[in-house]
Formats: sequence, structure tokens, C-alpha cells
Amino acid sequence: MGERIDIPAHCFDSKPLFASPPEREVVDEVRAWVKKNPVYLWRGHTHSKPNAEEAGQIRYINDFVLPKGVESPCPCCTPHHAKFGKGYIAWFPLTGNVRLMGQDCFRTLNPEGHDFAVSELDERIKRESEQQFLLSKLGNIPAIMAGIRAAEPIAEYLDDLRDILGPRVQTLTGINLWSLVRSGSLNLIVETREGATSAYYATVAGATLLDPARRRYAKALLMAKQAIGAINLPFDPIKASDIDRSAAAKLMARGVNFAEDTLAAMAQARLFVSVLNTATLRNWAEQENARARLYIRRDGLQLYIGANQKEAHVIPLNPVIDRSIPRLSE
Ligand SMILES: [Zn+2]
Repeated sequence: MGERIDIPAHCFDSKPLFASPPEREVVDEVRAWVKKNPVYLWRGHTHSKPNAEEAGQIRYINDFVLPKGVESPCPCCTPHHAKFGKGYIAWFPLTGNVRLMGQDCFRTLNPEGHDFAVSELDERIKRESEQQFLLSKLGNIPAIMAGIRAAEPIAEYLDDLRDILGPRVQTLTGINLWSLVRSGSLNLIVETREGATSAYYATVAGATLLDPARRRYAKALLMAKQAIGAINLPFDPIKASDIDRSAAAKLMARGVNFAEDTLAAMAQARLFVSVLNTATLRNWAEQENARARLYIRRDGLQLYIGANQKEAHVIPLNPVIDRSIPRLSE
């Protein structure tokens, strides 16, 4: 145990300031206070140990964290020595006192009361965060759905391109593009005294466009729409039951995450057919120690691909390939 801390006598006085559970402003006040001041000097804090009767009822209003390296004495167990860095704002309904105390300390005084207060706080935090999340998103559903719909033609075309640049190009040219780019990097064979080794040449952008195992983007967007569409509107996250609110929050999060992840993946995947990426592939294949025979070039809406320039086939690209991919509103 460290040095004894002198606590002013008035800190131990009972301060029955809170007839009802402290509101959000009190939580904010405590969190701001403990950043710069000794915990036990906060105006609302009672530093005496609760007696058995007072300890019979407790509620954890919220938690707080002390700055790194700072520890505070605790009214319940160690009133004169540094003890905890993570605390609870504990409210005692029988007296109206508030104690700022260590998170595990009260357990020994009243284990059941402690466990109940912890789960009540956890549930309340979960409820409030779901409410906040839904309040911030529900109004945006029309915009989110419109964004997804606008992305659908691009998604469908990128899914088509996987077939075109995969099986169809292979039939046409004998080139298995996916096998050339699946690692994401392009290498050259280098002969050394120890034998042939592989040396990094460049990175391929958007190789996942060709990945036969990826979920179709159009399918992923459909799943996002279905998740968001399963929320019964109008939905009131404040009045809803815990079960309904949790279900709605899950659907909303699932739909938005699905959609955002898919749009980001699409933006990356279409770089595969960009002028820059096709040039990288072409230049790589021109190296005499590259293992591929490949000519690929993007020119406007035409993609040339073949074993060499002379034998290259023209693949016309759908103009949606250049359409901007929507951003879902915040
Ligand atoms: Zn304690």
C-alpha cells in the first residue's frame, strides 16, 4: 500500500443531494472533474463507508476512468490510500448520497446488490446506445435505400465482369486471369545460385473482381436492403420494447454494414479494369522473366486482352463501369 493520503474532514460528511438518480449532466460533471482533480474533492461525493442499511440499495449511474497512472482512495474499502483507476458513480437511494468508488469494491459489502446494479447499468447503456443509433439512422433509411438502388446496376455489371474476365476470356484466349492475379501481387522469376526465386514486381488493384469464391455484389446489396426493409416503419426507438428495439438495431446495423462494405469492395474491385492497373499488368507481362503471356489494355470503354497485342480480343465495357459509386449518408 502506498502513502497515506490526507482527506479533508468535510469529504466524509454525508451529502444527501440526490433524491432521485443523478441525470446525465452529473455524469458529465464527474467525468470532467476527475480528469484534473482528486476524486474525493468532488462537491457531491460522500467519502464515508455506507452502513449496512444504506448499502442495502445501490445503483451504478455510470462509470468513469481516471487519467493514466492516477489512482484514487475508495470510500468503501481504502479511504486513505490510492486504490482504483476505474470507478462507478454509485447512488444510494436510501440516503440520496453519491459515492465515487472502485468498480469491484462494493461487492464485498453487498454482492447481490452489486451484481444487480452492474447488470442494470449494462442494460441501460445498451438501451441508450441502441436508441441513439436508431435515432441517428432511421430518418436516413430512404436515402440509404436510394443509395443502394443506385449502386445495383454497377454491382450487377461487376458480377457479370467476373464471368466475362474469368471463364469467357479463358475460352477466348486460353488465359486464366484469376490464377495470374489471385495473390494480389505480380512477381518475376529470378535465377540465383540457389535456384529460381520469385521477386516482387507490383501490386494488382481489385483482383477480387475475379475471385470465383466471392459473394456476388448484387446479392450482398439485396441482403442489405432486406435487412433494413425488415424494420417495421414507423419505428419509435424510445417507446419500443427492449426486444423490438434490439432487433431493429441489429437489422439496421447489419444492413448498413453490409451495404457500406459492399460499396467499398465494389470501388476497389473495379480498379482492376482501370487504365493504370491494366498498364501495370501489361508491363509486367512484357518482362522476359514474368511467367505470363498477356496483353491487356483499357481504352475508353474497350478492353483489349490476349496473349499478345496482335491476337488481342476486344471486350466492350458497359458504361456503368464509370458511374460513381454512391456514398450512404451518415
Ligand atoms: Zn473500495
